[in-house]
Amino acid sequence: MQQYLQQDIQFLPGVGPKRAQLLRDELNIGTFEELLTHYPFRYVDRSRFYTISEVTSDMPFIQIRGKIFGYSTIGKSRGKRLVADFRDNTGRMELVWFKGAKWIPENYPVGKELVVFGKPTVYRRKLNLVHPEMEDPEKKHVVSSRLQAVYPTTEKLKDQYLTSKAISKLMANLIKGLPVKFEETLPAWLLQKLNLVNLDTAMRQIHFPDTPAQYKRAALRLKFEELFYIQLNILQGKSIRNRHFRGNIFEKVGDIFNTFYKEHLPFELTGAQKRVMKEIRSDMGSGRQMNRLLQGDVGSGKTLVALMSMLIAIDNGYQACIMAPTEILAQQHYKSITRFLEGMDLKVALLTGSVKKSERIPIHEGLEDGSLKILIGTHALIEDVVQFRNLGLVVIDEQHRFGVAQRARLWKKADLLPHVLVMTATPIPRTLAMTLYGDLDVSVIDEMPPGRKPIITRHSFDSKRLMVFGFLKKQLALGKQAYIVYPLIRESESMDYKDLEDGLESISRAFPPPEYQISVVHGKMKPEEKEISMKHFVAGRTRIMIATTVIEVGVDVPNASIMIIESAERFGLSQLHQLRGRVGRGADQSYCILMTGYKLSEEGRKRIDTMVRTNDGFEIAEVDLKLRGPGNIEGTQQSGVPFNLKIAHLGKDGQILQLARDTAELIIAEDSDLTLEKNHIFTRHIKKGDPGHIDWGNIS
Ligand code: ADP
Ligand code: MG
Repeated sequence: MQQYLQQDIQFLPGVGPKRAQLLRDELNIGTFEELLTHYPFRYVDRSRFYTISEVTSDMPFIQIRGKIFGYSTIGKSRGKRLVADFRDNTGRMELVWFKGAKWIPENYPVGKELVVFGKPTVYRRKLNLVHPEMEDPEKKHVVSSRLQAVYPTTEKLKDQYLTSKAISKLMANLIKGLPVKFEETLPAWLLQKLNLVNLDTAMRQIHFPDTPAQYKRAALRLKFEELFYIQLNILQGKSIRNRHFRGNIFEKVGDIFNTFYKEHLPFELTGAQKRVMKEIRSDMGSGRQMNRLLQGDVGSGKTLVALMSMLIAIDNGYQACIMAPTEILAQQHYKSITRFLEGMDLKVALLTGSVKKSERIPIHEGLEDGSLKILIGTHALIEDVVQFRNLGLVVIDEQHRFGVAQRARLWKKADLLPHVLVMTATPIPRTLAMTLYGDLDVSVIDEMPPGRKPIITRHSFDSKRLMVFGFLKKQLALGKQAYIVYPLIRESESMDYKDLEDGLESISRAFPPPEYQISVVHGKMKPEEKEISMKHFVAGRTRIMIATTVIEVGVDVPNASIMIIESAERFGLSQLHQLRGRVGRGADQSYCILMTGYKLSEEGRKRIDTMVRTNDGFEIAEVDLKLRGPGNIEGTQQSGVPFNLKIAHLGKDGQILQLARDTAELIIAEDSDLTLEKNHIFTRHIKKGDPGHIDWGNIS
């Protein structure tokens, strides 16, 4: 069987060398097995017909029965296309082809009854189907099952007639040629317990189901297997780590912590901060190495939690460090931490790439003799010359920008593995955290410090711009400042700059100088120009800041309480949330206004509605994950999802993931090395879902 599945795809009947090359280049399919796991992304029920009057552009692939009343060719050169006037008893629509102009009218003559099949779209207010599939209703469907699987394909493949239908035919050839049944990858006891279909049935029915129930059960089984092996792998690694790697035991909370808590802390901790501190203290006192992810929206008070954790380390005779991804972030941490510690006799230093050699010497000395207790810095911290006397706790800010290897280098700096606290302000949905950071325990600060007013978010259509300007005028009269943001998806494209320039012009007209002064910041400006423009706004000399998304990070102007986002439908959800986070930093009521045109896609509308409904970064991240899939979640992009999911979708399959996690936990709890007879099958397949996980053996 393995031999059959490992064969080069070119030997599959219907493929050959030329198509094999294409499949390899376009879809990464090089073997029979890789074709087999090229799963359908939907099924179409071709037993149902729609009438043209029912059709809307929101619909997925549908089929319609009707007649072509005439062909015409319109447009020039690259825009040239063949258009058919297609009608049924209820209405008319256009069928459009950008190529094939000759053979289509020959094969599908005017007046002949046809079945057309495609995804409805709207172009210039007219409904159409672009490159529809067409069939003679008298002929039998090519694929015999009632439900037809639809496979991902590409334009290039379609050019060579490797359409979804063609892929389906290849799949049929592959399955026909199978020498034996698929070898099971899950033990019978587990299939029975969870009521899952066996692999052989699942593989056949995922591609050729007779009923929706069949493909649903097949998908459940295959998704479960995929997620289960990832979880099993993660949890086994974690179990090994817990058993074999001791951690420093921080048993006491001493003078330094208590002095800070009682005499220096200027406010009460929030309930969430207290809860998280308890979790961290219990980890650090357990004798195991802490590996904890601390999540909390911007401003939720993570830095303070990090600081107090470091004070516990120092109370127990250890040093601590914070590693930040950028120099600016490191400086911010340094500033706020030295401010918190004012009046306490604790040595803290900042080490970044721009710290001069001469200034480094005392830092290195302080680290080696143990007098320097807290080091804050960037990548500079992981250089080999940086040696600690006794590093007990590492705090990593915004972990997604640090690779696993870099984390490992930090750990080398101590005899026993230091405790690790990873902080992130990118809300990561639970399901994703469980998989991406499955080796970490997760703490969440889900409560903001008191006294902050939630931002009021409204959606407004472009046609209501005058009203929005009126509102803005009133707010400016109260002394407030405002951001107006334009989308620049690609900063280099001049098309987008036109939006910004037009906007600037109309705003300058509505808010003329000298009464109103405006700052402009965008990605094409030189850094110095940006800086100057920004400074004017920060100082309050300008009241309106017109900007592109460059203001997403780093700007902090408490007096700015209005955020207007133009063409808001063009932004991703987490980007909108980050942008909105620029206001609501002072004591005033803040507002966020999302401007859009009347035409909104279903997805665009969902994004806007979500923003209006909630300020909760986690809820927004959940919706984002559902809409876009995990690969595109901001913040995880850089590191990428460390494994390649073929069928499961982290956003949509949360329940299956939970089931996979729970199941793996039970198995590892009972049999952590998977040595029991009934679990043997796991050890054979565990590599399958290898999430590129950390080789703990290398870093001790
Ligand atoms: P984060 O790092 O999560 O973005 P910070 O730790 O920078 O948040 O905290 C944001 C601001 O809130 C800081 O000025 C901090 O001093 C303040 N802060 C933190 N915790 C509290 C609290 N419990 N009560 C009031 N203010 C707090
Ligand atoms: Mg912070």
